[in-house]
Amino acid sequence: MTTHTVAVPTPIPVRIPVRQILPYAIFTGILSLIALYFVGAEQGALAVFDGTTVHELVHDARHLLGFPCH
Ligand SMILES: [Zn+2]
Repeated sequence: MTTHTVAVPTPIPVRIPVRQILPYAIFTGILSLIALYFVGAEQGALAVFDGTTVHELVHDARHLLGFPCH
C-alpha cells in the first residue's frame, strides 16, 4: 500500500471593490424601483399614464407578486 501526497490549492480571496460597483448598484436599484412601481401601482393605486395598457402589460406579474389588483 502506497500513500500519495496531494497538494491542496489555497483559496485566493476575491476582492469586491465596492467603490467601483456602487454606481451600477445605484442604477440597478433605481431601475428596480421603477419596475416595481409599474408592476405594483401604475394604473391601479396610482396612474401616471391614462388607459389600461400598462396594467394589462404587467397584470400577471402584479398577481404573481401579490399586489392588489381587482
Ligand atoms: Zn388582476
